[in-house]
Amino acid sequence: MRVFQHPEFDRHEQVVFGFDDNSGLQAIIAIHNTYRGPALGGLRIYPYASEEDALTDVLRLSRGMTYKSALANLPLGGGKAVIIADPIRHKTSALLEAMGRLVDSLGGRYITAEDSGSSEADMQVIARQTEHVSGLRKPGVESGDPSPFTAHGVFCALRCAVRHGLGRTHLQDLRVAIQGVGHVGAYLARELRAAGAQLVVSDVNEAATAQLAKELGAEVVAPAEIFDVDADVFAPCALGGVIDDQVCERLKVRVVAGAANNQLATPAAGRRLHERGILYTPDYAANAGGVIEVAWQRRHDYRREDVMTHVEGIEDTLDEIFQRARREHSPPEEIADRVAEERFKAQTHQAA
Ligand code: NAD
Repeated sequence: MRVFQHPEFDRHEQVVFGFDDNSGLQAIIAIHNTYRGPALGGLRIYPYASEEDALTDVLRLSRGMTYKSALANLPLGGGKAVIIADPIRHKTSALLEAMGRLVDSLGGRYITAEDSGSSEADMQVIARQTEHVSGLRKPGVESGDPSPFTAHGVFCALRCAVRHGLGRTHLQDLRVAIQGVGHVGAYLARELRAAGAQLVVSDVNEAATAQLAKELGAEVVAPAEIFDVDADVFAPCALGGVIDDQVCERLKVRVVAGAANNQLATPAAGRRLHERGILYTPDYAANAGGVIEVAWQRRHDYRREDVMTHVEGIEDTLDEIFQRARREHSPPEEIADRVAEERFKAQTHQAA
């Protein structure tokens, strides 16, 4: 298996492979960049088909965390960890403790947190072996669920995109089509409705859409139809990679702003949206509310109001990105990458 020649390798500072005979741990930690601070990123536990797949995921995700934290102005770098295991069948205390020792061996250069396949309870087990764990509930600090913060950030991002893409300063009667009303999507739907928006929702979970139809008067469409809805905004809040070449042509909206990670299936899809005059809100700028909250949990002066104020800063970041995108005639996601790079590469330069 190649590391330095791997297509997802992007000058990562450190890639650590961990093995523990007793528990069967097979893990990889990737530290992409630490110039802004220690590399923070979740621990994904997943039965990868191969070590190669696990390496691909950890390299890609850790790099994404550097960009997300830099754009959110956090004093953090980007990292990620994966354990090759089925979280339902193979997750044991011994496995998590071995992971804790591996994290600890990096002396705080990498800070772990929840991700898919790992829970807050798992973080408590890991914390028996290392202090470099985030996302633990502290006494007096409600939370454990970053979704309301993520949703509020997406709401602010959407409001900003509507201002730039539609020239509207309010959301009254704006029609928003939301794909996926799970944790983040449902909170977002409630904030949008409170601001006067009209909602169209879809989810493979019919109970979730039925609840929002009843509670918010949302119109429900079948999952396959959400891309064709006549609306002002499309908010992808389910899966990654949903905006492919076909979806680019089907969308009738003028703005895309949602919570899902890696919404664009390819860079070409982003450029096609740009050509069609559809304003795309870079996903990792919009959905940074969760990591902002996790970062605040590491501080001793956590206050929900301060976290929310920081999350609302997403709107200022996007204002800058959309303005530059217009000036430079470039798609916003390309500008977002550049702004993030300026922030962590400027730090690289200073540190040198
Ligand atoms: P979730 O699992 O609670 O919700 C996702 C919802 O999408 C579920 O209700 C699911 O039934 C639905 N869904 C799945 N496939 C669908 C399809 N084809 N069509 C319509 N609906 C479908 O997840 P979440 O925590 O709400 O996160 C949503 C997205 O936002 C994910 O992509 C996640 O990676 C991203 N994200 C979440 C956070 C957070 O704080 N939770 C932070 C950053 C990014």
